[in-house]
Amino acid sequence: MFRKKYLKLILILPCFLVLIQTAGADYKKEREKLVQEHIVKDGIKDPEVIKSMLTVPREEFVPDNLKKMAYLDKPLPIGYGQTISQPYIVALMTELLRLDKNDKVLEIGTGSGYQAAVLGTIVDNVYTVEIIKPLGIKAKKLFKRLGYSNISAKIDDGYFGWEEHAPYDAIIVTAAADHIPPPLIKQLKKGGRMCIPVGQPYFAQVLKLLEKDEEGKIFIHDILPVIFVPLTREIQN
Ligand code: SAH
Repeated sequence: MFRKKYLKLILILPCFLVLIQTAGADYKKEREKLVQEHIVKDGIKDPEVIKSMLTVPREEFVPDNLKKMAYLDKPLPIGYGQTISQPYIVALMTELLRLDKNDKVLEIGTGSGYQAAVLGTIVDNVYTVEIIKPLGIKAKKLFKRLGYSNISAKIDDGYFGWEEHAPYDAIIVTAAADHIPPPLIKQLKKGGRMCIPVGQPYFAQVLKLLEKDEEGKIFIHDILPVIFVPLTREIQN
């Protein structure tokens, strides 16, 4: 009786393992296709960014019912009216930050945690802030499960940055504000870069690159029109 049960388990287990492995292999293939056909083809050149986009499993950061769409070059809903950004935009913003391995990076708008994971694959330390508590908690758990031990996350209004760990070599904001928050400019190191969408909610936003030179002078460049969810100001429990 017992033996039969075990025998069944022994027979079934390899089938499950094969299934899991095959799914993993498919995602890897889809990821490679996305990187070749969108990220590289559309002009992303930084080898570290490309490597990171080839590594981070985007399917882990999207809701279960959307996993089959994880490797379309599209933003996807993640609940609470928020979205995981389009992979090309994630790659572009990451490239614009001109990261070095030992950089300390601040992200405002953790969301699914995907952008933070892409950053965390490239640099030693990532700090990320999310204003919607359930999203922040979910992302924190995911970082732990996937082994991103160099990402620290907190729930707060990211308008004020994360003072405790400032200054940062680079700052990335993944929600659009109608102005660049002055606390973020303050928390950027001299010689640092910030990438941020600026504009009205869901309308006429421009992705901007802000650079602070070694004397602390600020230069702002317009990169391209984008659509991001708005930067909100109230912590949502
Ligand atoms: N980087 C995310 C994109 C998420 S969308 C990803 O890779 O999935 C933008 C996120 O910014 C949302 O989760 C939204 O809740 C969050 N957000 C909006 N205003 C914020 C604020 N003031 N501080 C921190 N996070 C904010």
